[in-house]
Amino acid sequence: MTRKIETQLIHAGIPEDEATGAVNIPIYQTSTYHQTALGVHKGWEYSRTGNPTRAALEQLIADLEHGTHGFAFASGLAALTTILHLFSSGDEILISENVYGGTYRLLANVFDQTGLKFSIVDTTDLSKTEEALSRHPSAILIESPANPLLTITDVEAVAQAAHREGVLVIVDSTFMTPYLMRPLDLGADIVVHSATKYLGGHSDLIAGLAVVKDEELAQKLAFLQNAAGAVLAPFDSYLLIRGIRTLGVRMDRHQENTAAIASFLKESPAVKSVYYPGFEDAQGHEIQKKQASGFGAMISFELAEEYDFRVFLSSLKLIYLAESLGGVESLICHPSSMTHASIPEEIRNKVGISEQLLRLSVGIEHAEDLIEDLNQAFEQSRKGE
Ligand SMILES: *Cc1c(COP(=O)(O)O)cnc(C)c1O
Repeated sequence: MTRKIETQLIHAGIPEDEATGAVNIPIYQTSTYHQTALGVHKGWEYSRTGNPTRAALEQLIADLEHGTHGFAFASGLAALTTILHLFSSGDEILISENVYGGTYRLLANVFDQTGLKFSIVDTTDLSKTEEALSRHPSAILIESPANPLLTITDVEAVAQAAHREGVLVIVDSTFMTPYLMRPLDLGADIVVHSATKYLGGHSDLIAGLAVVKDEELAQKLAFLQNAAGAVLAPFDSYLLIRGIRTLGVRMDRHQENTAAIASFLKESPAVKSVYYPGFEDAQGHEIQKKQASGFGAMISFELAEEYDFRVFLSSLKLIYLAESLGGVESLICHPSSMTHASIPEEIRNKVGISEQLLRLSVGIEHAEDLIEDLNQAFEQSRKGE
C-alpha cells in the first residue's frame, strides 16, 4: 500500500465498523463478552486483554508507524513502564541525555528498586554512543528531538551501531509523530509515544502507544500489556482515533507557525538563544532533514538576563503557562521547575536547562496573535521598568 500519510491518517487501521458500516468505530463500552459455550466466543473475552475500540486504535498506529503490532496504554509512562518490564535485574538501559523528566524519574526512582540500571549517554554524539554500546547494555532509549533543548539524534546511525552489539533500540517519538518520522523504518525495534500530545492533539486525554514489527517482541508486549494491565479505556481510544484523523492538517499549521515564531524570537533583543532544529545552523539540522519530513513544532529559548522569567510567564494572555505540549492551543513551560524538576540540578545545569530557559509548544492559532502576545509579555518583563 503506497497511499500518502495524509490519506492513511484517515483510512488506515480498521476504517469502518464491520457490524454496521459506521465510518467511526463505536465506543465498545464493555468489560466482558458473552461466551455461548465454554471457550466459544467472537474473539473477545475480557477488555483488559482486548477491546474492539482499542484494537482499532492499535491497528491504526501500527499501520502509521509501518509496524505490525500496536499497543495502547493509559499514559505515555504506562507504555514505557510496560516496555521496561521486558528487562530484569542487572540489565542496563542507555538513555538520551535530554530525556523527558518522567522517563528519568521512572528509571531513577521506580525501576532502580528492581535492580534495572541505566546510564545517560549523549546520543547526538555517535562515537560516545558507540563507546557506551560496547558495554552491551540491554537497550538504548532515544528521544529525538530531545526534551527540552530539541537536540537531534541520528536514529538510523545509532540503531545500526546498537544492532551490531545486539542492543534493542527504543525511540520515544512523541515530538515527531508518524506524520513526520517513522523510527521503525530507520531501524528502531520499538517506537513509543505519549499520545497525550500531538496524536491526541486537543489536550483532552492521557494516553500512550507503542509499536513493533517483530513477532516475538509483539508477543512479549502483548503478554505484558495484559498481565500488567495499564490499558487505554474504550472512550479514550475513540478520542485518540478522532485526534489522529486530523494530525496532518494540525501538524502543517503547527510547523508553519513554529517557523514564523522561531524567526521572530531569533531577532528579539529579549531572547538570548533559540533552540529550533529548523534553523540551518542548528545542531542536527541536516540529520533531521534526512530522517524526518519536518522540524516539529517545539521551540525552546533562553530569555536575556534583563528579562524576568516569572513576570514574562504571568504576563502572557493567549499562551497558557502549563505542562504538556502538542495541543491545538499554545502552551509554554519552565523546564527547570516543571517538566524537568525531577532531574537533579547538577544534571540540569550540565545539559543546559537553565532558569531562563522556556519551552514553547506552538499551537494552531494565527501566528501573528502569538507573536503579539510574546511581544507584549517581553515588554512587561523587562527589569527596571
Ligand atoms: C509527556 C511525555 C511522556 C509521558 O507521557 P504521559 O502521557 O504524560 O504519561 C513521555 N515522553 C515524552 C517525550 C513526553 O513528552
